[in-house]
Amino acid sequence: MNKLPHLFANNLAWSENLRHTDANFFETLAEQQSPEYLWIGCSDSRVPANEIVGLMPGELFVHRNVSNLVVHSDMNCLSVIQFAVDVLRVKHIIVCGHYGCGGVAAAIEEKPHGLIDNWLRNIGDTAMKYKNELSSIIEHRVKIDRLCELNVIEQVQNVANTTIVREAWQRGQDLTVHGWIYGIKDGLMRDLDVSVSGN
Ligand code: ZN
Repeated sequence: MNKLPHLFANNLAWSENLRHTDANFFETLAEQQSPEYLWIGCSDSRVPANEIVGLMPGELFVHRNVSNLVVHSDMNCLSVIQFAVDVLRVKHIIVCGHYGCGGVAAAIEEKPHGLIDNWLRNIGDTAMKYKNELSSIIEHRVKIDRLCELNVIEQVQNVANTTIVREAWQRGQDLTVHGWIYGIKDGLMRDLDVSVSGN
């Protein structure tokens, strides 16, 4: 017996709805995936990748972690990027942060949060790098939101500096890295205009 019956009921309805519009939807999808996009986003439950950009299963390769970080020693994230770039041959890598990110806020709080503070230290480093700009912002919420943007900008650079992406560009592969930010309050994305490509 299913322990969470409402979720299985939701799943059945979702599956039937998709089959209603395309009877062979899942059979076709089972053959292969060929997404054009890799999404690197926050684990936050309010930022569901596919829904935000209106993409169907099979159209978006997704990696999510707390505060959408790309850390050069994180084999999980690097493996996702490598598979997406080398095997799936995605054309776009989207780093999408969001305003009001709890991880970003926690990174510059004084109080400890346990193990996760080691992960959030990466955001602390970004806050240090931009401390002059950030210290000029009086309102705390505005400061957090600016750090959310700066964090995305730094992660775009981190993606672009991986050996995976550098080598893809060296061999002339069509690949662009984008930095976007999502507003939980209005459901809208903004392009931070920091896109980089190999050309
Ligand atoms: Zn977040």
